[in-house]
Amino acid sequence: MSLPGDPDEPPLEVGPARKVRGAGPPSPASRFRRVEAPRFLQLELVGRCNLRCGLCPSRFRATEAGSGLMDWTLLTRVMAQLPRLERLRLDGLGEPMLHPRFFDAVAFAAARGVQVAAATNATLIDGVCAERLVRSGLETLEASIDGATRETFEALRPPARFSTVLRGLTLLRRVKERLSAARPAVSVAVLAARENLPELAALVRLARRLGVARVLVRRPSHDFSERALPEEYRPMRDIIRSQSLAYEDAERVERHFSRARQAADECGVELRLPDAAPASPCRRPWQGLYLSWDGLAMPCEVAGTPERSCVGDARPRFLGALWNGEDLGDFREALESDAPPELCRGCVFYKR
Ligand code: SF4
Repeated sequence: MSLPGDPDEPPLEVGPARKVRGAGPPSPASRFRRVEAPRFLQLELVGRCNLRCGLCPSRFRATEAGSGLMDWTLLTRVMAQLPRLERLRLDGLGEPMLHPRFFDAVAFAAARGVQVAAATNATLIDGVCAERLVRSGLETLEASIDGATRETFEALRPPARFSTVLRGLTLLRRVKERLSAARPAVSVAVLAARENLPELAALVRLARRLGVARVLVRRPSHDFSERALPEEYRPMRDIIRSQSLAYEDAERVERHFSRARQAADECGVELRLPDAAPASPCRRPWQGLYLSWDGLAMPCEVAGTPERSCVGDARPRFLGALWNGEDLGDFREALESDAPPELCRGCVFYKR
């Protein structure tokens, strides 16, 4: 199906376009079969973060002239062009709750019947924020906690304070109880690496103490091996090499996963551990659209930042041209071929 747009509406004026490969004008009419409009959208509401986590590439992003905050007009215009949208994520490399209109964005989407999720570092949750989180219509909130002890947590997520995050999640729990609210459903999200692997079971118990019913364990999704990786992100290669479970002894990994499973059984916490390999070929570029804070489109969230892979600029009003354009069409075609995009070759979700 095609995507509606308002032909009388002027293009967005949100500052100069970033010099990113693939971020040119909308690509011409595609030679590819049309793909139905996405029902999933991920918007990087904020392109910067208040933390400097060791495994996050955001700290290597080149300093941009822009604000790092998604323009409100861009957000509402993109949403208006996707009337069949069902799910929205309001996160990316940055911390979404730094956006002054974070709660407006949640309410705007929720009022249209869209299920809204966000991941947060949970450092900004005070009493007022906890109340707004509960009343906003947010469906799910993932709180990133990579260590069960103050030492590990603060080493992995500087300059966050462990006590601040625990206090914020406790406040949120109390507000939910006071208002008898089921939403947002809170999960603890853990990026598992060599350093915090021994604390997985303790993280499950910590989630239980915080009243959190689900722990999502993930692993770094990419090895940053592509030749076209911008220079500033190259330090990520060594970081991944030293920390990723992909290079860890498989028996050690399984031992700690097994202890985490046992803790989850004892605590009644749902635990999701990462699969060793994907069960089926990746369909992300057909299922959803991922936009950076300044409106540049990527094929999936694994790209993370458009300097690595960009398939168009959503600031002009032709979102349909982007979704069914040559750049994304080429990417999809390559992903299904024996010569996948270089980005995909280093991705844990890639399967031929
Ligand atoms: S396989 Fe490619 S398209 Fe799929 S998630 Fe990985 S990098 Fe993205």
